[in-house]
Amino acid sequence: MKRKLTIALVAHDHRKADMVDWAVYNADLLSHHNLVCTGTTGGLIKAAFEEKDIHAEITCMHSGPMGGDAEIAAMVVRNEVDLAVFLIDDLNPQPHEADIQMLLRQCRVHNVPIACNRYSADLMITSPLWDDVDYKPLSPRYIEFKRN
Ligand code: PGA
Repeated sequence: MKRKLTIALVAHDHRKADMVDWAVYNADLLSHHNLVCTGTTGGLIKAAFEEKDIHAEITCMHSGPMGGDAEIAAMVVRNEVDLAVFLIDDLNPQPHEADIQMLLRQCRVHNVPIACNRYSADLMITSPLWDDVDYKPLSPRYIEFKRN
């Protein structure tokens, strides 16, 4: 990929092992981009990369429950994120559910691709569309639907 992207990486506690695994699996790709992570997720990816001598630019925000998701959502609003990988724990309640929903919503509103499982993340990060200068993403339209 020629373009340098800013990729947000967030994983809930029970999904962190999967995130670290995914990041290491895709390290060759990820090392060409800027990674912005919630605090604990970023720390774990940094440690895993260091262990394998993988160099990547990783910025850690606050921990998710302390506002990290909200900080990344604000970046989405400012058009500073190209892709988000958000591994959500769908089997356990989270104290920062409101922030989780905010991040998901802002990605939808601002048309930012967001992968919530590894398969989606693999597909998105390898998409040829990133470098296709003729491809223009169409923003969502909110059109009133009139039922007959
Ligand atoms: P963490 O935050 O990476 O700081 O654990 C993730 C989250 O819970 O949203």
